[in-house]
Amino acid sequence: MLIGLTLVSGTDSPPPLQMSEAQATALGELLRIAPVIDELGERFTAAGEQIALVGGPVRDAFLGRLQNDLDFTTSARPEVTEKLLSGWADATWDVGRDFGTIGARRGEWTIEITTYRSESYDPDSRKPEVAYGDSIDGDLGRRDFTVNAMALTLPDRTLVDPHGGILDLTHRQLRTPGRPEDSFSDDPLRMMRAARFAAQLGFSVAPEVIKAMTDMAERITIVSAERVRDELVKLVMAPDPRRGLTLLVDTGLAEHVLPELPALRLERDEHHRHKDVYEHSLTVLEQAIDQEHERFGEPDFISRFAALMHDVGKPRTRRFVQGGAVTFHHHDVVGAKITRKRMKALRFSNDQIEAVSKLVELHLRFHGYGSGEWTDSAVRRYVRDAGDQLTRLHVLTRADCTTRNQRKADRLARTYDSLEARIAVLSEQEELAAVRPDLDGNQIMEILGISAGREVGQAYKHLLELRLDNGPMTQEEATAALLAWWQSR
Ligand code: ATP
Ligand code: MG
Repeated sequence: MLIGLTLVSGTDSPPPLQMSEAQATALGELLRIAPVIDELGERFTAAGEQIALVGGPVRDAFLGRLQNDLDFTTSARPEVTEKLLSGWADATWDVGRDFGTIGARRGEWTIEITTYRSESYDPDSRKPEVAYGDSIDGDLGRRDFTVNAMALTLPDRTLVDPHGGILDLTHRQLRTPGRPEDSFSDDPLRMMRAARFAAQLGFSVAPEVIKAMTDMAERITIVSAERVRDELVKLVMAPDPRRGLTLLVDTGLAEHVLPELPALRLERDEHHRHKDVYEHSLTVLEQAIDQEHERFGEPDFISRFAALMHDVGKPRTRRFVQGGAVTFHHHDVVGAKITRKRMKALRFSNDQIEAVSKLVELHLRFHGYGSGEWTDSAVRRYVRDAGDQLTRLHVLTRADCTTRNQRKADRLARTYDSLEARIAVLSEQEELAAVRPDLDGNQIMEILGISAGREVGQAYKHLLELRLDNGPMTQEEATAALLAWWQSR
């Protein structure tokens, strides 16, 4: 048996995983990776070192979501690890010598091997300082959550779980190995990681962890923008971003990393009953995700982030007008500016910034379409302005309809269908308009030995017809076809 644990079932909902089920899943997953972990285990122990599969892959084995990225922890120093890998791995590289991590590839497996750590953090530093440790227990105690603080020693495959990770995993709960306040003080990024793993794994966050996140939210400001951004991206790309984003907002973390999001929540107004823009934005995000499979075949960050940000211009542009109505004039343009600024601060690439802010800026354009009143040239301009973001603009515009009035929703969807159909027809026509015969007028005159006149026009038209019927021809084929036509006249 892999591990000898019997578990009392918890009272949490969703229902806990059955232990036997998790164990069986893990066994199956570990068999799949057995060739790699067994060989590494033997190589390292033969050299007098310890090595264990650790963190994400151990957790994911129990959850049945193990990928081909395998993380290991070892007593070996990086130089020794490199030596032990040479001759076995297809390639090795330095992931971060400062962090004691060596990367390697072996067949389909991507491997990262890190020397035992006992990190000492400077509370005001933006990066953790790393010191090597000498035991696996010390290493696991430094990890972020109990479900990430488990290891499987190799080659014997013994589970090391000093912090009750298996129990938390079956209860689908994120807890820190020690006091959450100490853990977050060591590395405030872990607060964002809690929200990210909640979104990725569908886990709940233990109440004392939520409390520490709430009390310490401000500490996230000492973490570098790049590290914050990377966690935010993983959160947004997770299967359930609403869960993670809600945590960020409710704990006050969002106030520091993405203040535009909680600002949307202030939009609820009892007197003027317009929609709660915060809730609307989360729903638009989910409705954009619903279209991803068909449109992109995979999760798409730009489309997701644009959906989340599309209305961030609303708080700043809100005006109350006579009769109790509310307007948000130019919230598209203002929102695009705010989005750009936030993404810059989070050190996104220029391409990402351009793409998301363009979508925010264009998200209202379709509403001028009415019930199909645009001229062809207005349709062409829509396509041209969207440029390479056109598919995402389709996704965003369709997602941006959260009315509970089903008939209204159906009508909007049908209207957008008709716009997409017109775009398809127009672009087909325009591609056709750009088609030229395979020989031009001068070549026709030269081949037939004639001068400009009606016959050149007729020959040109004939070649154009052939081109449209049969697609492109080579120069020789076109010449032969031209001569055949000339003779048959
Ligand atoms: P994924 O690779 O899917 O993002 P993961 O669990 O492997 O998930 P990583 O960010 O790759 O997460 O980190 C690998 C492991 O290192 C984690 O499982 C955790 O044990 C540990 N870890 C990573 N970052 C931290 C941190 N900031 N503080 C403490 N432990 C961390
Ligand atoms: Mg990982």
